[in-house]
Amino acid sequence: MRAFILRKLRLKKPTVAVDSSASPSPDIQQLPRAALPRDIPISQKQCDLFEKLSTEIRLLIYEAVLTDPDRPLHFLHVTPLRGRPKKLGHWRCEESDSPYLMWQHSCFGLWDKGSTRVIRHASHTNSDLLSLLLACRLIYEEAVQVLYSGNYFSFRGLQGLPSFRALVAPSSWHMLRYVHISTAFFTPMKDCSENRATFPLDRYLNWEDGCRMLVSLTELRLLRIEMMIWDLFGYYDRSGGTVEEQALVFILSALKPVRARTFQVELNLEVPSSVLNALGDVSFELLRTEKLHDRRTFPT
Ligand SMILES: [Zn+2]
Repeated sequence: MRAFILRKLRLKKPTVAVDSSASPSPDIQQLPRAALPRDIPISQKQCDLFEKLSTEIRLLIYEAVLTDPDRPLHFLHVTPLRGRPKKLGHWRCEESDSPYLMWQHSCFGLWDKGSTRVIRHASHTNSDLLSLLLACRLIYEEAVQVLYSGNYFSFRGLQGLPSFRALVAPSSWHMLRYVHISTAFFTPMKDCSENRATFPLDRYLNWEDGCRMLVSLTELRLLRIEMMIWDLFGYYDRSGGTVEEQALVFILSALKPVRARTFQVELNLEVPSSVLNALGDVSFELLRTEKLHDRRTFPT
């Protein structure tokens, strides 16, 4: 988002009108320059927004414009289906009541329309979050924290975190308070350790690094991880087959150092007692997700 803001700021540079019909006379360059105004420049704080409204009122305005407690703010970091990571974009959720897993929302840019598969580019957005922030530096400095700390950020796979973190300022990254991750794993580990392009499957090789990024978010108030774990050979079974316990221990152990005031891990399966014993004390609550998997739109 920082790169996007900088790009917008560059675009907002005033253009200079040039009269091409008249070439400047060399004499003009020798004329004395006009005197600079001697009045004291008007401070930005003399505008009505800062002069007449208290900080509290301004913060309420920023919250109303930049946040929505009922609608997650999805972050899109790759093109749907296959392909290498490309542009990152955002989309305010339009399917909060969907019975399907969060990563399967059409908000992420892939859905079926009759017999046609529709793909929307990640750089498109349905929100106008940046206009207010771009108004002036004072507003940006006051409002940017509201943007990052007041929204419920939704990522499709833990692999979305590095892309997001690379794009925002370090101070903005640490402002995150509400995070949702929707992801999936296949087991057994030895057959599924290779990189896969299909979304939102996370990779065993990168999982611990992603969890360490979550550890760096020390002010989290809510972290919810929605995770489907299937046996590779039982994927088409409704139950997802019998998953490998070693994989479960690996996935859940990496989450143990993560801290959030409310930390929930929602799974499509009941965690066996042997896995719970291997885990020991954990900082999260294990829940069974009620969400459905849309196998028609996402067959693999
Ligand atoms: Zn959505």
